[in-house]
Amino acid sequence: MKKEDEFKHLTEEQKHVLLEKGTESPGSGELLHNKESGEYKCAACGNPLYKSGKKFDSGTGWPSFDDAIPGAVKLKEDNDLGMKRTEVVCAKCGGHCINSVCLDFKKK
Ligand SMILES: [Zn+2]
Repeated sequence: MKKEDEFKHLTEEQKHVLLEKGTESPGSGELLHNKESGEYKCAACGNPLYKSGKKFDSGTGWPSFDDAIPGAVKLKEDNDLGMKRTEVVCAKCGGHCINSVCLDFKKK
């Protein structure tokens, strides 16, 4: 499958965050205050990334997780603009999966 096809069903905002490493406005995420139990999946490819039990309120305005499902995400070192950051990407499609706009919640 071509990359464009894989991302075809996504909204412009999702594509911006997943592919261009954009960031949604803090506090705007639909899943930020979600407390139901289930699984968070990559919005692009459906790869399960996090379990709801690992979610915590970091106070940053973005959903935060203690731990991803083993092997589901990759950490990428990013040296853009001389700042060292560690970026979390989906191990399957490489999407930048950290904002709630990029996650699909599946209730248990
Ligand atoms: Zn993915």
